[in-house]
Amino acid sequence: MKKYVYLFLPNNAEGSNKMQDILGGKGANLAEMCNLSIPVPPGFTISTEVCTHYMKYQKYPSGFKKQVNDALKTIEFTINKKFGDTKNPLLLSVRSGARQSMPGMMETVLNIGLTQKTINGLTQQTQNQKFVYDSYRRLLMMYADVVMEANANKKNIRIKLEQILSNIKLKNKVKKDSDLNEKQLIKLCEKFNNIISDNFNTPFPQNHKDQLWGAIEAVMHSWNCKRAMEYRNIENIPHEWGTAVNIQCMVFGNMGHDSATGVGFTRNPSTGEKKFFGEWLRNAQGEDVVAGVRTPNPISNNSKHDLENQMPSMYKELNKIQKKLERHYNEMQDIEFTIEKNKLWLLQTRKGKRNGFATIKIALDMLSEKMHNQKSMINKIKPKHINEILLPTINYNTNHKLDIAGKGLPAGPGCATGQVVFTPEDAEIYFNKGKQVILVREETSPEDVQGMFVSNAILTSKGGMTSHAALVARGWGKCCVVGCNDISINYQDKSCSTSSHTIKQGDWVTLDGSKGLVYIGQIELTKPKIKKNELFNRLLEIINKKKKITVRANADRKKDSSNALALGAQGIGLCRTEHMFFETERIIAMRKMILASKSIDRRNAIMKLLPYQQKDFYKILKVMNDKPVTIRLLDPPLHEFLPSNNYQINKLAKDLQITQSNLKQTIDILHESNPMLGHRGCRLAVTYPEITEMQTQAIAKATSQLIKEGYSPKPEIMVPLVGNLGEFINQKHIIQSALNNIFSNQSLIKKPSIKIGTMIELPRACLIADKIAVHADFLSFGTNDLTQTTFGFSRDDIGSFLPEYMSQKIIKNDPFESLDIEGVGELIIIAIKKAKKIKPDIKIGVCGEHGGDPKSIEFLVNAGVDYVSCSPYRVPIASLTLAQIS
Ligand code: PEP
Ligand code: MG
Repeated sequence: MKKYVYLFLPNNAEGSNKMQDILGGKGANLAEMCNLSIPVPPGFTISTEVCTHYMKYQKYPSGFKKQVNDALKTIEFTINKKFGDTKNPLLLSVRSGARQSMPGMMETVLNIGLTQKTINGLTQQTQNQKFVYDSYRRLLMMYADVVMEANANKKNIRIKLEQILSNIKLKNKVKKDSDLNEKQLIKLCEKFNNIISDNFNTPFPQNHKDQLWGAIEAVMHSWNCKRAMEYRNIENIPHEWGTAVNIQCMVFGNMGHDSATGVGFTRNPSTGEKKFFGEWLRNAQGEDVVAGVRTPNPISNNSKHDLENQMPSMYKELNKIQKKLERHYNEMQDIEFTIEKNKLWLLQTRKGKRNGFATIKIALDMLSEKMHNQKSMINKIKPKHINEILLPTINYNTNHKLDIAGKGLPAGPGCATGQVVFTPEDAEIYFNKGKQVILVREETSPEDVQGMFVSNAILTSKGGMTSHAALVARGWGKCCVVGCNDISINYQDKSCSTSSHTIKQGDWVTLDGSKGLVYIGQIELTKPKIKKNELFNRLLEIINKKKKITVRANADRKKDSSNALALGAQGIGLCRTEHMFFETERIIAMRKMILASKSIDRRNAIMKLLPYQQKDFYKILKVMNDKPVTIRLLDPPLHEFLPSNNYQINKLAKDLQITQSNLKQTIDILHESNPMLGHRGCRLAVTYPEITEMQTQAIAKATSQLIKEGYSPKPEIMVPLVGNLGEFINQKHIIQSALNNIFSNQSLIKKPSIKIGTMIELPRACLIADKIAVHADFLSFGTNDLTQTTFGFSRDDIGSFLPEYMSQKIIKNDPFESLDIEGVGELIIIAIKKAKKIKPDIKIGVCGEHGGDPKSIEFLVNAGVDYVSCSPYRVPIASLTLAQIS
């Protein structure tokens, strides 16, 4: 018979860490810990296959129930307690556990097996009535919320029960749940039982087996609850995986002063520091730490309240175990533990979520500690982690006065600014209006994930570094401040206040997630200084050694070029020249050139631009010095340079001393129905050769100037939008004679050799790439235009139908974001094969947006490109991808 149930017992488990697919992450790691002789309360895992079977057929597979009952008997025998026994009862926890961690998304029920019959036995055994009724009230709350409410399709029982709990605390003048005495707890449980009966028209089940099967079913159902489905959509987790269910003997952290519970990370998840980090609470159950109900104490921070000081022997044992786990997994671990009457139990270990900074620091440290080799270290890092360390921050060096509204814990990286909302629903409404949002809550729960996802940052007034808000935000690399108890929130008024400020919905605040600070107002954020980012530079060095393909940047200003260099660019793959024509004096000359009716007037006008262009190229080539800089000749249609409104037309007419109507007429003549397919790219330069001539001369002059100054400039000249061999030959001829013209008049020791190549951005160019290659020194795929012209989609207007295409699954991804491998990719393969056949050493690059997209890069490298070029901030991401695939 098929096996559905896997036992994990002291030193002996039927599963292992290799079985995540059927045991889920939690179950597989519980089994692994047992095999490592780490103290884990005995239990068993129901495989994910049972969940998928149950979802499909609405019933359990045959033989499954018997396997559960047999496993229960083994557990009873192992710990010498009996489930449902009136004298010596065994209590169980029932927890979900998917293959990939989905923190807090699915259900858990604790203390299963407590009934009117077993309560007395447990009280006798523990001599602790307060603990027994505290456990019972927790079971009542969880069971009503998770099991009974799901079955009855009702809502809000939890709120009702929590209200009663608050009332009873208020009435008895106590602050914490754990301050209630046994009498008060007994009364509370009585009230809970009554409310539950009234609410569901059926009493809370007093049969231990009914409780267990109710909980198992509810956990399986929770795989398909709304928040879990939303989370899977965000995290790309397949919906067909199903969850495992872990059933385990309860151990109790709420048994008194010698009991406790906590969570820990083997390294600091915010800073990456190699130091055991975590939080704990005395006399509490695990949910108390994560839910932020009480503010936990640190595990070890040299304070009088830390676990190390309060329970030294427990700390020592725990510290040993956390080290063992990290070494075993070669990975930073996130652990949950409980101390029951001075006995330590591990309830969970899993890969610890951390922010980008910590990910990179830990990976680099583990490389030095020989826990990783270079390859495994690089594979630990994802593009989002690099993005995070390059995230915006507040510029604290300005004199700008910063108005602090409060201070909390620094739970998520970077800084963010936005308008305050107080509910996840409002966050989505604001976001859909294109606003920047900061979600402010007392504490978050898994229900809030969608609203958290659309927010720039999250601020909570309660909870610790391991609260739900902190875990989720850190996982996403989102700015987050938690436990900011300086603010109190009034959900009804949609406002919050501090001792000095009132913040209403829609007001701007700025958060510093690395310092835990909240500021009033919208503060300008600055990008970090890459050059001084020691961590980033260490990483870059390793990545650059590992990757085999060059990464260049698309940059057309000096500032962008030096930024690109700091980010690891090895050259410029695309310097677009059109932006250089828009400054005041330049645009006038440009317009005169466009509107000139005689060739001589056109030449005079365009030559006025030469000194400007020379200066532009000089600056960029100087910054890049000995690295290649591919300068693309003018590309866009001419009418983009002409004025569009009456005021500007009037002004230009005056400047040019022509009538307004004449000017309008000329502009109308230049108007094109399909400008993207019109008079642009090399077509422009074929009809107006003066443009190519001027731009080439400017490049040559800048180059000569720099050589004389001792630099080694390496410009390359690129012709845009070639679809015809004749076009390229025409332009190459003009470029060569312009270069000769300038260089022969310069007293240079050696005449520079400047490469002349073309963009491949039309399907026809791909098909004749061999013919072009005969004459070109290099080819660079302009995948933006190539995508546009292959699909026949306008790259500017795709928004009107693409979302519908994606939702109907006609197209999987936006082809302008991630390369269409099937169509555009095929053209690229054809072009590379043809070009390399004729000229094996021809240099081939990519300079469309796809040059910075990891999925596209992998394809392009396999297709045979020699370099990729992308915007400066994507350079490290492209480099990382290349290192990972080499
Ligand atoms: C391209 O078409 O891919 C390209 C890089 O050029 P542009 O985006 O400037 O048209
Ligand atoms: Mg293009």
